[in-house]
Amino acid sequence: MSDKNRREQATAQTTIVEETSLEGIGLHTGCKTKLTFRPAPANSGIRFFRTDLPGTPMIPARLGFVVATVRGTNLGLHEAKVHTVEHVLSAATGLGIDNLDILVTANEPPAMDGSALPFFKALLSAGLKTFPEAPKRLLTIPGEVTYEDKGSTYRATPSDRFEIDATLIHDHPLVPKLNLKFRLDQGDYAAQIAPARTFCFEHEVQFLKSQGLAQGGSLENAVVIGRDKFHTNAEGLRFPDEFVRHKVLDLIGDLTLIGRSLLNVKIETVRCGHAHNIEFAKRLNEAATKMRRQPIGVTE
Ligand code: ZN
Repeated sequence: MSDKNRREQATAQTTIVEETSLEGIGLHTGCKTKLTFRPAPANSGIRFFRTDLPGTPMIPARLGFVVATVRGTNLGLHEAKVHTVEHVLSAATGLGIDNLDILVTANEPPAMDGSALPFFKALLSAGLKTFPEAPKRLLTIPGEVTYEDKGSTYRATPSDRFEIDATLIHDHPLVPKLNLKFRLDQGDYAAQIAPARTFCFEHEVQFLKSQGLAQGGSLENAVVIGRDKFHTNAEGLRFPDEFVRHKVLDLIGDLTLIGRSLLNVKIETVRCGHAHNIEFAKRLNEAATKMRRQPIGVTE
């Protein structure tokens, strides 16, 4: 991509040029599913469509449509639901895409390899195009926004780029405290974040399956942290700190539901997870909305 294209992409809304599809099974539901990315017009945002349901219902990828956050982020509108949207959304944000239609033939996107890389590659190969007449809608916060619950903490501050400082702490000898500092840049997202896969702990597997979750889970789309070793496919771990990278991947996907470009915030978090990500995203959205509504010159 040329410097001119890169500059345009940082300021103008972006979509893809061509339609592209991926197929596989859903991580939690285990259903066979096909996902199609389609270009979308300026100001339409990211939207899911259930093409297997009568009338092809549309579900906006926005905070107001989050219906569950158990081991993934699920969206719904009336009867139509889409489970585990965060990896797909993370890939779109990793590429700076603002407008995108995502068609699915079941209630979950394909898990692929458990990371965001297949989605990122598909979107990149579809080509990116900007709308020079439509500036990006940026998330702009007036100052610090914090959120804290049950040992998870979040802090956002205004910045001139999207930065994340994430710390993962688990009470498990194989997963010591891990920290990752990351600045969103297309190349860095592809290399540092997109390849990091979903993980779970071995002792959770039976429980997750009994709850109807992880039905499509296998070592081909997840890393399982055992009592004294990692269970992976032949590839092994992709990074020694793959787990904190995946947490950042998930956080980027969840924050995408704000529906605004994240290029002007820095986020620091300890022990982030889906339910808290969504609560924090709501607070960011509220702070930004309040700021936009406040007449210039008026302070509280
Ligand atoms: Zn994930």
